[in-house]
Amino acid sequence: MIAKVITDIALDREFEYIVPPELEKTLRCGSAVSVPFGRSFREGYILSFHDTAEFAREKLKMIAGVSRRRASIPEKLIELGRWMADYYCCTLEQSIRTLLPAAVRNGKVRPLVRRMYFIPDRAVAEKFVADHREDKRASARCELLRALLAGGDASIDELKKLPGFSESALKTLQKHKLLCFREEICRRDIFGDAEVIPDTPREATPDQQKALAQVAKMLDQQGGVLLLHGVTNSGKTEVYLQAISSTIARGRSAIVLVPEISLTPQTVRRFRARFGDRLSVLHSRLSEGERFDEWNKINSGEVQIVVGARSALFAPFANLGLIVVDEEHESTYKQSEAPRYHARDVAVMRGKMENACVILGSATPSAESMHNAATGKFSLAEMKTQVGLRPAPRFIVVDRRLSAAEKENGVFSSELTEAVRQRIADGEQVILFLNRRGYAHTLRCPQCGYEACCESCDVNYVYSKRRETLSCHLCGAVISAPETCPQCGSPEIRYLGSGTEKIESIARALFPDARIARMDSDVMRSADDYEDVLDRFRRGEINLLIGTQMIAKGLHFPNVTLVGILNADQGLSMPDFRASERTFQLLMQVAGRAGRGEHPGEVVLQTFKPENDAIRCAVDGDFAGFVKFDLEFREMMNFPPFSRMIAVFFRGGDDEKTSRAAADFAQALTPYLHDGITLAGPIRAPIERIRGQYRYLLTLRGKKLANLRSALRVLALHRNWDGAEVAVDVDPQTLM
Ligand code: ADP
Ligand code: ZN
Ligand code: ZN
Repeated sequence: MIAKVITDIALDREFEYIVPPELEKTLRCGSAVSVPFGRSFREGYILSFHDTAEFAREKLKMIAGVSRRRASIPEKLIELGRWMADYYCCTLEQSIRTLLPAAVRNGKVRPLVRRMYFIPDRAVAEKFVADHREDKRASARCELLRALLAGGDASIDELKKLPGFSESALKTLQKHKLLCFREEICRRDIFGDAEVIPDTPREATPDQQKALAQVAKMLDQQGGVLLLHGVTNSGKTEVYLQAISSTIARGRSAIVLVPEISLTPQTVRRFRARFGDRLSVLHSRLSEGERFDEWNKINSGEVQIVVGARSALFAPFANLGLIVVDEEHESTYKQSEAPRYHARDVAVMRGKMENACVILGSATPSAESMHNAATGKFSLAEMKTQVGLRPAPRFIVVDRRLSAAEKENGVFSSELTEAVRQRIADGEQVILFLNRRGYAHTLRCPQCGYEACCESCDVNYVYSKRRETLSCHLCGAVISAPETCPQCGSPEIRYLGSGTEKIESIARALFPDARIARMDSDVMRSADDYEDVLDRFRRGEINLLIGTQMIAKGLHFPNVTLVGILNADQGLSMPDFRASERTFQLLMQVAGRAGRGEHPGEVVLQTFKPENDAIRCAVDGDFAGFVKFDLEFREMMNFPPFSRMIAVFFRGGDDEKTSRAAADFAQALTPYLHDGITLAGPIRAPIERIRGQYRYLLTLRGKKLANLRSALRVLALHRNWDGAEVAVDVDPQTLM
């Protein structure tokens, strides 16, 4: 028998090996094997078996053996990996690599081993205790032995807590063979001692019952996708929890994907409270060892549920029954390096391959998913009211065109200033949202027109007043802020445009009585910082929280009665067909932070474009209206979901060569441009240069791109473009 094996050399190629007869029964697709490669050996995975070889059989080498250092990949995941490589035009190696966490793949992490002490012969031990009852010198030993006889096997930590413990007592007992130890694999504890109070399912509301009935039907039918469209607080998470219970009651497992930013201890606690030890959590803050252990817990069936960010999608459950994708519209589900997969779409594919059902949940589902629901590809369940019938927050729109003259402090309209003062005075809490960090975003000289711009990227520097630096948010370059114009020496240099840092300093002056904190990636260095601020906000030690989209998602604070949106228009001018959708989603999400408790919430929204459709619909809470408008626009322009789109990015240090590579690439695609497939570009990418690399972009659109995809794979992965790097992005989420 012949096996095709992929090794971890970044090639889009499998190599053939002869399967040793004695291993034919042991090996399967996904098995980790060691193979001779050149003059040494490499580790790899079997992707398929064949009766005949493509190459001359006599030249083939034989698989050396089963890999001792690596875990195998479940067979069904290999199939998913193949599909990803094909669909997302990446190499097989990149795709297969994604299926395993590095900690499992690299073979460097060892399982944690602990010693368990036990009494090999109780009778002997009991006799020893009885014999030495009166012997004073042995009393500590006896006491320890007696405690062990009563309590059973113990780890060293448990031993240390027993009466009579001392190192010498332990040694002596071991020497006399009264006590032995065995080594056991144990799991690193990711939850620490944090206690959770167990909770039980709530009685489902009529809307939840309907959704759960649909889930039960899918579980019986062994497959299907349910789009769960429910406003914030309508009880979607409760639906997930009960759907998971039904899944594990049927002996199957469940994966829950949440955006990394929503994977807070608060979220995890909710799942732990319901499922306790049956739950594993995968997030980016785990150590290599913890990740290794969590993966092994899943792989060995010790847990049935995993909650995690994007990559948890590849959890190696043998009998997967359900995948939940919460906040399915989130663009962070798209991976930005190869394989550039979208976890929602791959979840749907994995569900299909493994007869598992998929729930896509969101308060603002993506246009793609709404379209799939409209065409019957997905079923739809809607939950339109908040649990407890809390009213939606009330919007106050401040038209900034009328108050632009207010200048300097102009980021705070008088309406907003007044509202904040009132809430603080009433002992309530306020969130102010601006999706931009730093102090100012343009440093300009009015004398000579100079604008500070990163030397290696095509973007303006961001000014931080506290650190007195200018920094580039693309490449991370930092220089000290100039006091005079670097070009003409004028001291008149001006800082324009506001970020959260500036909002904070203005707020401190405007609201001296407020207890203010800021939350953005400049000040939040670690997950602990984040938790710390949230805890203080929860306890009321902070009553005014200023932040970027970090505060937009999932935070539940009943005492927040006012949300201020400083600049609602911010994302609208992005050169992207999803700009309106993103703006709408973000505004809905931010607004959802207000009025989650007893007091009704209010949102003060500042805008220069009150008549813009995304803003108007967000203010009216009119999701259906927005989707109608957005889908009409996309259909008219032939954007996804009415076409499929593939973007190809080119980058290189030499502008001319990169531009030529892009043009040649486009030329090579000409034979495929039929059946309504269109090509646009190449053009300079909206961000023309990053880290000194020039960037070009071409986009392809059409109804059926399967043939084009295979051509793109060959062009992008198997051909050289004279120093230019080519990146194919299928279903791109951003065209910057
Ligand atoms: P969402 O995920 O849509 O924001 P949640 O599931 O978090 O909504 O529910 C919002 C709040 O309502 C939570 O505090 C939750 O415990 C509570 N809740 C959800 N479903 C019910 C129910 N059927 N009965 C009572 N309380 C519920
Ligand atoms: Zn100047
Ligand atoms: Zn830069």
